[in-house]
Amino acid sequence: MFTLNNDVVMPALGFGVFQAAPEETTAAVREALRTGYRHIDTAASYGNEREVGEAVRWSGLARDEVFLETKVWINDYGYDATLHAFDKAVGKLGVEQLDLLVLHQALPGEFALTVQAYQALEKLYADGKVRAIGVSNFMPDHLDRLLAETRIVPAVNQIEVHPYFRQSDLLAYDAEHGILNQAWSPIGGITFYRDGSTGSTLADPVVGEIAAAHGKTPAQVMLRWHLQQGRQVIPKSVTPARIAENVQVVDFELSAEELAWLDALDTGVRGGPEPADITRENFATDIPEA
Ligand code: NDP
Repeated sequence: MFTLNNDVVMPALGFGVFQAAPEETTAAVREALRTGYRHIDTAASYGNEREVGEAVRWSGLARDEVFLETKVWINDYGYDATLHAFDKAVGKLGVEQLDLLVLHQALPGEFALTVQAYQALEKLYADGKVRAIGVSNFMPDHLDRLLAETRIVPAVNQIEVHPYFRQSDLLAYDAEHGILNQAWSPIGGITFYRDGSTGSTLADPVVGEIAAAHGKTPAQVMLRWHLQQGRQVIPKSVTPARIAENVQVVDFELSAEELAWLDALDTGVRGGPEPADITRENFATDIPEA
């Protein structure tokens, strides 16, 4: 468990559903909840909030037993538009309150709009509609501007982190400001933008060697690396055996040397979009009503 900067407690390991088609999301999230995951990370732009909500209801778990996180897409930035984005999200998820609501991207070229969107999150927080608020893909310069213009320090920054792209400076910035680092693509599994030329973390020989030494899999070693370094993780899988594999990460410990070997795999090459390049024009996605 991690305790956020407002004392809300969040599971250390969650379940991601990006690129899970709506029809496979329900089965995957059901399986994850059955296996013991208690945090689901979705987003308005993933188009599967409704299916996440269905799976949570199917599980029979009480609302307060599942930590639900979703993200506001850039088409819905602006004070009123972001307040309405909350209504769309809870309408699709079929809940009244969210555990964590984050801005999916900064809009560096329209930062005033980004600030207005964040101020809407602050309002939702003040009204008790969300238990915590945060950001995703914010770089230090974006955070500097946000912290200067808003009141509540984001509880999390959800960012790309895996052995091939560690973002050490950003990790340090977040930690210094009390912002929990949440690693997306924690096992380097991103399937967009990456052309394969930098190889796969899952097939990396160093990761493989450490995994063999512990009788674990490469995915388990990478997840353990994050957790030991204080990052929350949200691995995604629609495959039952992998869903189970990815939570079995509490019964072994990596040495300081092994952690350093994994740190040293950093290529500095991003797999996802460059945060500085995000605009409402080139990343437009309309978010339907609930
Ligand atoms: P991950 O690092 O979680 O990798 C997922 C991929 O790896 C899938 O192709 C999956 O295949 C495969 N996989 C999962 N487990 C294993 C395993 N044990 N062994 C081998 N292969 C495995 O990448 P994601 O990009 O999906 O990131 C995770 C989550 O982070 C997303 O689902 C989303 O919630 C979030 N995210 C957020 C972003 C943001 O901008 N804020 C951007 C991208 C992701 P299969 O499903 O077929 O089993």
